[in-house]
Amino acid sequence: MTQGLDVSWSPSSWASKPIKQDVVYEDRKAVGRALAKLEKLPPLVTPTEIVRLKKSLRDVAMGKAFLLQGGDCAELFDYCEENAIDSKIKLLLQMSLVLIWGEDIPRGRSSTSAMLTTPGISGANKPVVRIARMAGQFAKPRSSPTEVVNGKEIPSFRGDNINGFDPSERTPDPDRLVSAYFHSATTLNYIRAQLASGIADLHSPLNWNLGHVQSPSLQTKYQRIVDSITDSLRFMKTVGADTATQLETVELFTSHEGLLLEYEQSLTRRLRHPSAYPPSSSDDDGTGWYNTSAHFLWIGDRTRQLDGAHVEYFRGLENPIGIKVGPSMKEGELVQLLDIVNPKKEVGKVTLITRYGEGKVEDMLGPHIDAVKGSGHVVVWQCDPMHGNTRSTSSGIKTRQFSSILAEVSAALRIHKAHNSHLGGVHLELTGDAVTECVGGAECLTDDDLSLNYTTYCDPRLNEKQALELAFLVAGSYRQ
Ligand code: PEP
Ligand code: MN
Repeated sequence: MTQGLDVSWSPSSWASKPIKQDVVYEDRKAVGRALAKLEKLPPLVTPTEIVRLKKSLRDVAMGKAFLLQGGDCAELFDYCEENAIDSKIKLLLQMSLVLIWGEDIPRGRSSTSAMLTTPGISGANKPVVRIARMAGQFAKPRSSPTEVVNGKEIPSFRGDNINGFDPSERTPDPDRLVSAYFHSATTLNYIRAQLASGIADLHSPLNWNLGHVQSPSLQTKYQRIVDSITDSLRFMKTVGADTATQLETVELFTSHEGLLLEYEQSLTRRLRHPSAYPPSSSDDDGTGWYNTSAHFLWIGDRTRQLDGAHVEYFRGLENPIGIKVGPSMKEGELVQLLDIVNPKKEVGKVTLITRYGEGKVEDMLGPHIDAVKGSGHVVVWQCDPMHGNTRSTSSGIKTRQFSSILAEVSAALRIHKAHNSHLGGVHLELTGDAVTECVGGAECLTDDDLSLNYTTYCDPRLNEKQALELAFLVAGSYRQ
């Protein structure tokens, strides 16, 4: 198959291909006005940042770094709010510290500073690359275009940049396209400001709050890691090693599913590569096409058809990209997909985000690893243990079992090892709030607890405690 390799690409060439999850607007003129406005607005992120992430992901692909990616399933415009943003940044930071640390007491104090920052030494003995599913994760693919609410069939909620959750707002509204840009910009501005002002400063004490852990042995285990991190920070202070500006902030990249192609196209710009960056998919004139709406974008499991619009759009981008890989992916199809989106076989350009489910990972991951190995592509392998493990309770609430989530990550780790490959990272749906959407974990939430604080507008997320616990357990598994 040669499609994608010999046909010219432009930011709008996707429009001639079959498209899944398309949005039909009533007022095309209003869409035109919204897109024209977006085309004039400045990039949200720059080639320098995008290429920096790309280089970090190359390290992940080579087994030299670990990738932590997380955030809401559906980000609402309403989440563009101080506390919601702060709590997510802090949670991702804490999780990355735990992953950096692993279970052991540090081996040799001299490397302590390096351990705590990027690059640091992780439970996997690796630096951690952090990507938030934030500042643009607004568009949602849906399994059904309509749903029944109060006995009436209405269009499904498709994310805040398309329509509103309220049943009266389900008609796609073009003004939401421009609104999405400004909510992304405001969120990103606040993240950048908070990072520059020390929200990730490791000198300030972090609130680890392990009181919810019901098992005494787990409590002791987690407390040991926290003590060990706190201890080293104190030690650095004593010896004066904490003056390093490295400790005052961290890098945090942004990402979202590239679903709404008209929006993505309008923020795709031909820009100069950062110096010392070799052009890849573009003509050799020192420029390339960058999606400037986020550092990293991924293709969803429902829109990854080889001859489809989304794959066509993604193949022209300089950005590092992700592809969700669900149980319906055939081995040959996976390799063809990689050939189309990454014909030059750039190492780490593509992150394969596997999401089979606890019951299927065993059968599916190994053959996929072998097929990719055989193709000569070197990818980042990331485990999304959320999307294959969704179930409905007897009263019809969507949830996920903590033990299934952990089981899929643990299986992925083991299978990669057995296939002489490595799990590069995890992709999680989480929130910094005390929601009750996933069951299990150290707090032992049950189906009956779900109604206490179930606030997601799409898939169930790990709450702060469950997310941190998963980080403790993943770090621990790496040590085995
Ligand atoms: C998601 O990440 O929210 C999602 C819809 O995932 P997938 O494409 O893997 O189903
Ligand atoms: Mn989801």
